[in-house]
Amino acid sequence: MSASKSRVLHRSLRETPPRAIGGEGVWLIGGDGRRVLDASGGAAVSCLGHQHPRVIEAMSRQASQLAYAHTSFFSSEPAEALAEKLVGHEPGGLAYAYLVSGGSEAIEAGIKLARQFFIEIGQPQRRHFIARRQSYHGNTLGALAAGGNAWRREPYAPLLSQAFSHVTPAFAYHEKRDGESEADFVSRLAAELDAEFQRLGPENVAAFIAEPVVGATAGCVPAPEGYFRAVREICDRYGALVILDEVMCGMGRTGTRHAWEQEGIAPDIQAIAKGLGGGYQPIGAMLASGRIVDAIRDGSGAFQHGHTYLAHPLACAAALEVQRVIDDEQLLDRVKSLGAELERRLIERFGNHRHVGDIRGRGLFQAIELVADRATRTPFDPALKLHQRIKAIAFEGGLGCYPAGGTADGSSGDHVLLAPPYIATSDDIDMIVDRLGQAVDGAL
Ligand code: PLP
Repeated sequence: MSASKSRVLHRSLRETPPRAIGGEGVWLIGGDGRRVLDASGGAAVSCLGHQHPRVIEAMSRQASQLAYAHTSFFSSEPAEALAEKLVGHEPGGLAYAYLVSGGSEAIEAGIKLARQFFIEIGQPQRRHFIARRQSYHGNTLGALAAGGNAWRREPYAPLLSQAFSHVTPAFAYHEKRDGESEADFVSRLAAELDAEFQRLGPENVAAFIAEPVVGATAGCVPAPEGYFRAVREICDRYGALVILDEVMCGMGRTGTRHAWEQEGIAPDIQAIAKGLGGGYQPIGAMLASGRIVDAIRDGSGAFQHGHTYLAHPLACAAALEVQRVIDDEQLLDRVKSLGAELERRLIERFGNHRHVGDIRGRGLFQAIELVADRATRTPFDPALKLHQRIKAIAFEGGLGCYPAGGTADGSSGDHVLLAPPYIATSDDIDMIVDRLGQAVDGAL
C-alpha cells in the first residue's frame, strides 16, 4: 500500500480529490494553497459561503452547552427555536417541522408521513406516488424510487418500490413541442397527469412529488407559468397530497424563502435541506401541514418513523443562525438582484454561443445547457463526458461549478449548474462567468 493511499471510500474509487483545508467567504482553500471560487456552493449548499463568523460562534456556543440529547428523552432549545423560525408563521399552512440530517431523509419522512396519514384517515388503499422523469429526490431507496434519474436508479432497479410512477417533466426546452404555446404545453402535461391518476385509480394515489425548480438532474429548470396550479388542482380534485422537494431550490436560493411562493400554490408536505444549514452541519427538514399532523395526532398519536440524529441540537443551532443571518442581512433581496445580474452576465457571455442551447434558472440558481446543435437541440453524446471536462478545466482555473451529464435517451444534455453563496459580490459574479466561459471553450 502506498503511503498516500486514502482509506476514505471516495465517490471515485480511482482518484482521491485534493484536500480542502480552509474556507473564506466564497472561497475554498486547498492544501496546496489553491483558491477555488465556490460558484455552486458545493451542490447549492453553502448559501452563506464558508466560515461565517456568526454561524461558527453559534455552533461553538451550542457545542460547549449541549451537543446531543436523544429525542426520545429530550427536546432542545435550538430545535424548538429552529422549528418556530421555519413554521411558526405557518407558511402555506405548513405548521410542523421534522428535523433530520439531510435531503434524502427529509424525502423519506415525507413519503412515509403521506402514507401514514392516509392509513389513519381510513384510506389505506392510497399507496401510489406520482413523480416526474427528470427529477432527483435523494439516494436512499425510497427517495431513489421517487426520483427519475435513470443512471442513478439503474443498478438498484430491482430494489426500488413499484409504488412510484413517472410522468413527463415540465422541462420546456426539451419537452415543449415546436409551435406549442406555453399554455398548451401546461394543458398537455396536466392531461397526462390526470391520465396517470386514472390509470392508477384516483382513489389509490397518495401524492404527487416534484421539485419546483429541478436541480441536479436537469439543471435549474423552473416550470412554465400555471403548471403547479394545474398540478395542485388535479391533486385536490382526487384527494391526493402535493409533496414539494425544495432540498436544492429552497431556503432562499430562488429569491423567495420557498420556491413554491412564486408558483401561487403551497404543498402539503415539503422537504428542505442544503441551504437550511448552509453546510455548517448536516441538516434537513420535512415540513408538514397542520391538517396532516393533526389527523395523526388524533389517530395513533405517533409518527411511525425516526432516526438517531433527529433534531440534533448542534445542527439545529447552526441552521438557526444561518437563517437568522439571511433575515438580518436581508439576503433574499440580494439573491434577487444578484441572481438577475448572474442571468444577464450569462446571457451576454453565452447567449450567442453555438454550443449553449439554453440559459435558465431563478435567483442565484442558474444553469447553461450545452448542445451539439442549437437548431435541433441535440445534446452531445453522453459518452464524451463533456461536463466532466468542463468541471476539470474550471477547477484548474480556480472555479468550482456543478456540471452534470446528459441522459442516454437525449431528454436532457450536459449542463453546468451555478449556485453561488448569497453573500457573493458583483465582482465574484463577473469572475464566475469569465472562468466558466474559459472552461466551456477549453472543453469543446
Ligand atoms: N432532493 C433534491 C432535489 C436534491 O437535489 C438532493 C441532493 O442533491 C436530495 C433530495 C438528497 O439530499 P441529500 O443528498 O442531502 O440526501
